[in-house]
Amino acid sequence: MEELQVKELKPVFTHEQLQERVQALGKEISADYHDKKLCCVCILKGAIPFFSDLIRAIDHPQMVIDTLRASSYGNTDHSSGKVNFIKDVELDVTGLDVLLVEDVVDTGLTMHEIVQHMYAKGARSVKIAVCIDKKERRQVEVDIAYHAFTLEEGFIVGYGLDLGEHYRQLDGIFEVVLANR
Ligand code: IMP
Ligand code: MG
Repeated sequence: MEELQVKELKPVFTHEQLQERVQALGKEISADYHDKKLCCVCILKGAIPFFSDLIRAIDHPQMVIDTLRASSYGNTDHSSGKVNFIKDVELDVTGLDVLLVEDVVDTGLTMHEIVQHMYAKGARSVKIAVCIDKKERRQVEVDIAYHAFTLEEGFIVGYGLDLGEHYRQLDGIFEVVLANR
């Protein structure tokens, strides 16, 4: 596989900006789901930081959480368009109002598949909360109920987002500038 050489990481969203949006989303979700059976599902691994901040910003005493891992990307910066379920949710989601929490929606292929998957498992409703709604390469329409930020273009890392598994631990979001491109 081609080795990607990173020349620079350009700041896009700071930790403070992310936290402010996450708090606002938490309030919105708390209000929208107060009378629902909320099950927040973290889409591993990219959503870990966003999920961990978001669930603590949601006020919902009966909320349950779970995790799911699907993969559509290899160690490159483009989608393969194929979704594999590597780890499924462990709770019985029958009748639950599932909120899928994802790092970024790009082509939309991954989330489209996961939404169908959750309905097939008997969820009563399925909605999406995404940290970054990336519009540039959308291939299928996905209804995004909650987003922290939108981004027109660029490949980003940090706050869970990776390039070949690196940079997930950064507390802000950065655009990757590659050498020789
Ligand atoms: P989609 O199926 O194209 O919407 O891909 C979604 C997945 O691709 C996300 O869960 C990420 O893992 C990955 N992805 C898409 N865009 C980026 C990006 O800019 N940085 C890092 N990962 C990305
Ligand atoms: Mg990823």
